[in-house]
Amino acid sequence: MDVRHNWTLAEVQALFELPFMDLLFQAQLVHRQYHTPNQVQVSTLLSIKTGACPEDCKYCPQSARYTTDVEKERLMQVEQVLTAAQKAKSAGSTRFCMGAAWKNPKARDMPYLLDMVRGVKAMGLETCMTLGMLTAEQATELAGAGLDYYNHNLDTSPEFYGNIITTRTYQDRLDTLSHVRDAGMKICSGGIIGMGESANDRAGLLIELANLPVHPESVPINMLVKVKGTPLEQEKDVEPFDFIRIIAVARIMMPYSAVRLSAGRENMNAQMQALCFMAGANSVFYGCKLLTTPNPDEDSDLQLFRTLGINTEQRAQKPDLIQEDELLTQVNERIAARPTADDLFYDATL
Ligand code: SF4
Repeated sequence: MDVRHNWTLAEVQALFELPFMDLLFQAQLVHRQYHTPNQVQVSTLLSIKTGACPEDCKYCPQSARYTTDVEKERLMQVEQVLTAAQKAKSAGSTRFCMGAAWKNPKARDMPYLLDMVRGVKAMGLETCMTLGMLTAEQATELAGAGLDYYNHNLDTSPEFYGNIITTRTYQDRLDTLSHVRDAGMKICSGGIIGMGESANDRAGLLIELANLPVHPESVPINMLVKVKGTPLEQEKDVEPFDFIRIIAVARIMMPYSAVRLSAGRENMNAQMQALCFMAGANSVFYGCKLLTTPNPDEDSDLQLFRTLGINTEQRAQKPDLIQEDELLTQVNERIAARPTADDLFYDATL
């Protein structure tokens, strides 16, 4: 099968209309052609700065515009982040994702973020960040520090987008993705299902992702977690078979990409997750917290992987020992030389 970047709505609708088993069969064939069967990649996500976000994403409990139970936390200190990364590595993660609830990082944040990237990289983990919009210069700096992946979701179709977010445009998102690509980093970009979008919006999201000049290396497909206090708390549940179909269509349209089960996995039973893996999902977030919403705990994930005969990918990077030592020494020196005054860490809404 060719890797394509010219999908049309009619073609994608035709995939969605296939009998369920035929769609899963096709997706599994593609999956086995491009990926190792029975293997998932495991990432851990840490919220390095929580809540008080000035954006108005209607699904998000971290927006300062909604009253939710999320407790605001300032930007974490570099040492705390490195401790969490070490723990994630010990638990079997190969990629460590650091997320901050920002519109975009400010110049004063960059030295800390760069040290986090260097420190996590020096542990031999793949690094990923999600910090909001990036300028071309910020993307270059992060790539220079060793950031492997940048997560920036398109969320939904261009047509439905304005119903969900008004504080940044779809084009803003596409611009950030192209800065990330130009800086040489890998892209993690997907969306959220269950926000009131139509079937065509779901197809439209996949078309936007698959028709990018290069497919995102990682495509997280989230099922809306309806958080109390957000405008979407009363949305209807997503029909599980509809969700599995989206995974299968994403697998067919973006054969090389890792398709990730992300938010909402807590609300999927083991059988539904198994069908998602059958449909081509081959990446998950691991651990009890997905930024601020619950995620299955590590033990139940391990049990499910064992039951299904799924292996977790052992692909932590192995920087050579000299480079690893040098990087860690540099990071530790920088940390030691820096004032630790509380005013370095601040409320991002200000
Ligand atoms: S930008 Fe991110 S943290 Fe901020 S409201 Fe939107 S999803 Fe939440």
